[in-house]
Amino acid sequence: MKLVIKFGGTSISTGKNIKIVTRYLHSLSKQNQIVTVCSAVSGVTDDLIQISKFIQKGNKEKANQLAKTIIKKHKQLAEESITKSQNKKKLIEKLNSDFNELEELLHGMILLGEVTPRSLDYLISFGERLSIILVSFAIHDLGKKSIPLTGKEAGIITDSNFGEAKPLMDTTRIRVSKIIEPLLDKKVIPVVGGFTGADQHGSITTFGRGGSDYTATTIASCLKADEIWLMSDVDGLMTADPKIIKNSKVLKEVSYTEAIEMALFGAKQIHPRTFEPLLAKKIPMRIRNTFNTKNLGTYVTASPDAATKKTVKCVSAIRNNGLIDVRGGSMVGAPGTAAKIFSILAKVDVNIMMISQSPSESSISIVVKKADLDKAVSALEMNLLGKLIKKLEVTTNVTIIALIGSGMRGTVGVASRVFDAVAKKRVNVVMIAQGSSELNIAFIVKDASCNSVVQVLHDEFELAKIN
Ligand code: ASP
Ligand code: MG
Repeated sequence: MKLVIKFGGTSISTGKNIKIVTRYLHSLSKQNQIVTVCSAVSGVTDDLIQISKFIQKGNKEKANQLAKTIIKKHKQLAEESITKSQNKKKLIEKLNSDFNELEELLHGMILLGEVTPRSLDYLISFGERLSIILVSFAIHDLGKKSIPLTGKEAGIITDSNFGEAKPLMDTTRIRVSKIIEPLLDKKVIPVVGGFTGADQHGSITTFGRGGSDYTATTIASCLKADEIWLMSDVDGLMTADPKIIKNSKVLKEVSYTEAIEMALFGAKQIHPRTFEPLLAKKIPMRIRNTFNTKNLGTYVTASPDAATKKTVKCVSAIRNNGLIDVRGGSMVGAPGTAAKIFSILAKVDVNIMMISQSPSESSISIVVKKADLDKAVSALEMNLLGKLIKKLEVTTNVTIIALIGSGMRGTVGVASRVFDAVAKKRVNVVMIAQGSSELNIAFIVKDASCNSVVQVLHDEFELAKIN
């Protein structure tokens, strides 16, 4: 098979883990053609972003100090993950030249005292630039040919939307296959840095946090891979958070559309655009655990087996949110009300997680992260209170509960089963939203009721017996 296998940051966070990863790749490579995609070593992207904040604040010492910590971490990993001294020496040389470039970049950014979207992308691309060198050398150390390629070197060409770039697929397709296919023919394992590409002027761009998943699916689509595997430290998509539900199960099979919903709500965070490149070519994906490769994980496919078409496949919960209920008579029949509210929230960079509006149009309920709540409320108060809005009511500490499953579509009685079950627990439902795709039902309860609601729904839909 032709496989694209992506490893998240925790899979390569220690020398021991890097060895686990590379041994696994080595054994798979006997039967398969493999392209590896890697995230930055866990924590490194966060650190690089932190460095940019220090630069913005003019805090030169702290910026340099944190860069030193990153450099030290990678040197340590090099030390732990390579056995042959000759290879270790070459690896350190290669890393050193990238460390130098990182330090020069920092120097330039500190002198300018500013962080532009373009320089930020360049800076945070170093996480993957360094991790791929480690992994590629570690594969080589096992006696298998390998080459590290940044997104740019692999041929990923994007628009110039720094921080949230999108690959230009036509060009990318041609370049990626021209660069990678010959390597596969020569039995080389390319290790591609996730999360980044370059625009048409050669400037480095990034896809947004978690973007390595997106790199992996983009490459899989360019190469018409047979499968793509996302490897992390969880066994797959689950029927519920195992921390809440002891007998929660790994889902054997889900559809793309279900996976998209689950990625938004679930514990396994997947970049929102990850599935886009797979849809046209219908390339199946597996979500698997690096540290438990006996388990095949969750299979994500365009056409799941009929046997797995359950009404509800999982119950997710996102705690720690705030609910804002916006009311006012002048909202009724006034076009543009919702637009005003949402653009005010957008201006202060508040992400809206859930919305519902009563048909009377006199109230709109909005759910935001707790961390955004104060910002959201004061922006709305300052701009709209006394004008469009009469009253603003805030509820803190609420949980979004979401049930996901394509079998809900057109099935009568799902909602009543859901809310009957919740009512049996005497829990008050504060707000409800269902998309017309009918793929999910979401509602709000207080954080304190979260676990008992997830439990009662997991039982009601017999999710412990799903497979
Ligand atoms: N390293 C990037 C991040 O932490 C991309 C990724 O991990 O997928 O967001
Ligand atoms: Mg990550």
